[in-house]
Parts: sequence; structure tokens; C-alpha cells
Amino acid sequence: MTSLADEARLVLDNVADRTTSIFQPTLRLGVTGLSRAGKTVFITALVHNLLSGGRLPLFKAQANGRILGADLREQPDDAVPRFQYEDHIRRIVEERVWPESTRAISELRLTIAYESASAFRRMLPGGRLTVDIVDYPGEWLLDLPLIDKDFATFSQESISRARLPSRRSEAAPFLEKLDAVDLAAPADEVTARDLSVAFADYLKACRADKSALSTLPPGRFLMPGDLDGSPALTFAPLPVEPGKTYPKGSMAAHLSRRYEAYKSVVVKPFFRNHFARLDRQILLVDALQAINAGPEAVADLETALTDILACFRPGRASWLGSLLTRRIDRILVAATKADHLHRESHRRLAAIVRRLVDDAVARAKFSGARTEVLAMAAVRATREATVSDGGEDLPVIVGTPAAGETIGDRHFDGKTETAVFPGDLPEDPRRLFDPAGGVEPGSLRFVRFRPPVLQQTAEGLSLSLPHIRLDRALEFLLGDRLQ
Ligand code: GDP
Repeated sequence: MTSLADEARLVLDNVADRTTSIFQPTLRLGVTGLSRAGKTVFITALVHNLLSGGRLPLFKAQANGRILGADLREQPDDAVPRFQYEDHIRRIVEERVWPESTRAISELRLTIAYESASAFRRMLPGGRLTVDIVDYPGEWLLDLPLIDKDFATFSQESISRARLPSRRSEAAPFLEKLDAVDLAAPADEVTARDLSVAFADYLKACRADKSALSTLPPGRFLMPGDLDGSPALTFAPLPVEPGKTYPKGSMAAHLSRRYEAYKSVVVKPFFRNHFARLDRQILLVDALQAINAGPEAVADLETALTDILACFRPGRASWLGSLLTRRIDRILVAATKADHLHRESHRRLAAIVRRLVDDAVARAKFSGARTEVLAMAAVRATREATVSDGGEDLPVIVGTPAAGETIGDRHFDGKTETAVFPGDLPEDPRRLFDPAGGVEPGSLRFVRFRPPVLQQTAEGLSLSLPHIRLDRALEFLLGDRLQ
């Protein structure tokens, strides 16, 4: 249940949000996804295309010439870091390197001046929509189920996951340290820190490219934000017995208290102060990385996405459900980096992500939110071409692989344009979950391309960043609010 202080705080926040809304409608758009899903690139490309009048034919207000202008404004929350748009866009456009990824929550306020689509409303003064973009790590959403779990349950689940054969090598150093811990011995800070570092290292190793696993709470161990090293993050699961009370001051009692502190000073404030105020949400998914890592990573991504989407339809009686005074009414699930594939595979990529989130999306619909799934590239770093190989035409993508990237024995220097045949995604998404399904781990060739060179008009003006279906995403997320 929410405390009185929680409720008073929410009422104040909502009044503050709506004060802007009486005179000028405000929409709080959450942008999330697991680390490296493409949040920073997405927000940067979205803002850049709106500020510079980009080519967005499927974003109707823009295509019909009704957008009069967009600009950045001071954000409403002084205590939240600002999304560093200017640094990010400079790196992409001028240096042709990708910006630094999301590590914590940040925010950016944008206003869009527009002319109404209806002839009647056009007689009134022009409209303005304020969009507050809230960027936050998807890992933080994976913490919601912890609210209802005590330390023994959390520990038991985490340790059995660490003992899975597929995680053996990543988990070995942590499990070794765990074996040496005396639960009833007096707590000491050095052992607590040692254990929590070993636990965090194991979680991070599971996220690395080779295994690409996703379901790894607690979220702040992967994405600590500004809490790195703080006591609330200095804990680890222990093989405690459910229902048993350990002596005060013992290792087990100490870490159990830290775990409870993590929930009350880290997890709950995020949901209360930020998540509960969102109106719309985009969830970015890097399915290609998981597909390339194999069936276990795909199944694991499915679990993570289901857990993430569960936050958007909490039961009314749950802690989060009782906290929400407004409802998220639209959720877009977007498969990112579609520019790594030829157009012929985009439909298959969208079908794969649809399959990954099917159950969760059906439930979100049930709770009143409109959901859509699409395949997108916020920044298109490649173009398409066909090469002929022994009489057969192969669809390829052409771009500049980043320095240090390799395909087989080819090494790239970051300067040379190259044609890559990325391989085929299966027509039937179910094959990805099947170890005998025929999609060999590592069989798809995904290299990191550098951001593109901006095209120039005949007059020498730079065009906006190219994209794939960013306009479709904008139409779904903002279109109806610009009527
Ligand atoms: P975040 O952790 O969710 O903020 O992820 P980023 O936005 O930093 O993206 C992580 C990496 O994915 C980037 O450094 C790029 O290499 C790649 N990436 C993200 N979006 C795109 C895209 O639209 N096209 C291409 N080609 N690569 C992308």
C-alpha cells in the first residue's frame, strides 16, 4: 500500500504536471529498453528530426506542413539530469561516432508548435504541445517484482539462476565466494563488499555479447546510476533458510537489511517519482543481439520483456497499482537497429519481436493501453544494394563498419564502405526458440556501422539524419495529440 507521504507527493506532482496542461498540454513520454537497446540514439534522432524539420512522411502533422516549429525548453524537474542532446547529436553528425549510452534517468523538454488539422480550430490561436521525454534504463523495471519478495525468496531465486548450467562460467567466482561465507558470523563490510562486487560482476558477465542474457535483477547492479558503491547496493543473495531468524549483527541479518533498504530507498522512489507520472511509453528492443547469441538468450529476452511490460499493467491491489493515478494509454514496442538488415527482413524482425511480447501485449491491451510493434532504425547507418554471387542475387547492406569490427578474417579500419550480407532471419519466429531450429548462434553477421554521412541538398544544406520508420513511431506516440 502507498503511505500517506507517497500519496501527498503524488497529488502535488500531478498538480504540477497538470498546471502546464491547463494552458498548454503536456505529455510525458517514457523511453526505455535494456542497456544498448538504442535509447540514447532514439531520443537524439527524434529530437533532431523534430528540431530540423526532418523527412517524416508517416508523421502526418509534419508531412501536412502543420508543424510550425519545435524547440527545447527548460525541463520541469530540477533534480533529474538533463538528457545531453547537444553533445549526443554533435558526436553523431560531426564525429560520426555513437554517443554515450544511457546509464541513469535523464529528461528533456521539447515544445512543438502546430496548426490544428480542423478548420474550426485553425481559427483559434495555434496549438502547442509540451513533450517531456524521460529516458531510463529498462533494467530498473525488472526490480518491480522484488517489492513483494523477502530476502530469502530473492536469494533462493538468484542462486538457483546462478547455478544454471548455461551460467556456470560467469557465476563460478561468485558461487565460490558464497560457499565460503558463514551466515551466522558477525557481519563485516569487507566481505559484504566483496560478495556484492562478485555478484554484480557475474550479472554483468551474463549481459556481455556472448551470452546476452537479460533477466538479471537487481537492476541497479547492472545500471547503478549515481548509486554505485552506496550501502543500499552493497548486498548479495545468501543461501539463507526461509523463515529462519539469524542473530542480530550476523552476515545474514545485515545483508537482509540492506536488501530491504534497496527496495525502500532505491526501487520504490523510482516508481513513485518517475514511472507513475508517465503518459506514454516506448520500449526499445535489440532482438538481433539475442538472436545471434542463440535460443537461450532469446527465451531470456522474452522473459525480461514480459517482466518489463508487466509494470504497465499492475493489479489494482498491488503496491504499484495503488500508486498509479494516471494510466499509460499507448505503448510502442520497437525492434531497433533494423538498418542492420535488408528491407526484406524487416517484416520478419517485427514478427519476431511481436512473438516475444505477444502474451504481455495482450494483457496490456486488456488494461486499456493501445500497443503497437514495429521494426525501426532511429538512425539509418546503411543503404541497401544487391550483389551477385555465382549467378545468385544477394540482398546486402552497405555501410562503414566501425574501426575494430570484424567479419570472419576481415578487419575494418572505420574508413572503408563495405557491403555485408547479414544473413536471413527465419520466416517462422518459433524457430529461434528451438535449439534445433537451424539458426546457428553467430550465423548472422551484425557489425557495428558508423553513423552515416549527412546528405547535402543542391544548395549545400545538410539534410536531417536518415532513419527507418522513426516517423511511424512518432505518429503513434504523438500524432493524436497534434490534431
Ligand atoms: P542505450 O543503452 O539504450 O542508450 O543504447 P544506445 O542508444 O547508446 O545504443 C547502443 C548502440 O547501439 C549504439 O552505440 C550503436 O552502436 C547502436 N545503435 C543504436 N541505435 C541504432 C540505430 O538506429 N542504428 C544503428 N545502426 N545502430 C544503432
